[in-house]
Amino acid sequence: MIEFQNVSKSYHGKAVIENLSLHLEKGKITVIIGSSGSGKSTTLKMINRLEEHNAGKILFAGEEIASIPVEQLRCRMGYAIQSNGLFPHWSVAENIACVPNLLKWDKQKIARRVDELLEVLDLSPEQYRDRMPHQLSGGQQQRVGVARAMAADPEILLMDEPFGALDPVTRASMQKEVRRIHRLYGKTILVITHDIDEALYLADHLILMDKGAIVQQGAPMEILTQPANDFVRDFIGRSD
Ligand code: ATP
Ligand code: MG
Repeated sequence: MIEFQNVSKSYHGKAVIENLSLHLEKGKITVIIGSSGSGKSTTLKMINRLEEHNAGKILFAGEEIASIPVEQLRCRMGYAIQSNGLFPHWSVAENIACVPNLLKWDKQKIARRVDELLEVLDLSPEQYRDRMPHQLSGGQQQRVGVARAMAADPEILLMDEPFGALDPVTRASMQKEVRRIHRLYGKTILVITHDIDEALYLADHLILMDKGAIVQQGAPMEILTQPANDFVRDFIGRSD
């Protein structure tokens, strides 16, 4: 679904990603984990062109992203971030309807989609669709952020520490939600996290990054049982 071929990126002449090659498989949850500043968010933002790469190729469903108009590209990708980024002066329904509106979906279809997503995320549509973001708890706001990211049925869902701001209980329920959404819709999902337990729970494919490069990748169980080096061993918290 997404393919990086020898991708490099620098900010103000300083390289932060060097010769990165990776593959996000269609219908799978890929999780990127790594130390702070290792280039995880930069990697994700190059996919929806919030940042442009300097060298190499990034392919989306076989097509180079550089040749896809950026608005079109972003409408095909859902994006959810830690600070949920809801528009404060728009209601829950208006926030969720953002991309469908851009795509000029029929009004009734949009209303149905909003309610469907609210149901899926366990927010009763009658109770929540007309609320403003500040009338929601942090966890509810993040759920609306996820609903908004999914609204136009994107081909891929990009999530950058989507649950970082949540308490452990809400966080666990959101993790379940992601797995459930994945089961329901079979979406291709990329999640970035700092939390190894979250990574192990969510990932079909796990990528560990350090200093702009991949240190190890594979099935979570493989990484747990066969860490490639001390960095990985430390990261997953196993000393054997
Ligand atoms: P964290 O876990 O803290 O979110 P990360 O792995 O997501 O970190 P990035 O945000 O990708 O890391 O940043 C990688 C490096 O690039 C860091 O050294 C950071 O300071 C730098 N960087 C990120 N964005 C910019 C920018 N817009 N301008 C200049 N430098 C940047
Ligand atoms: Mg980051």
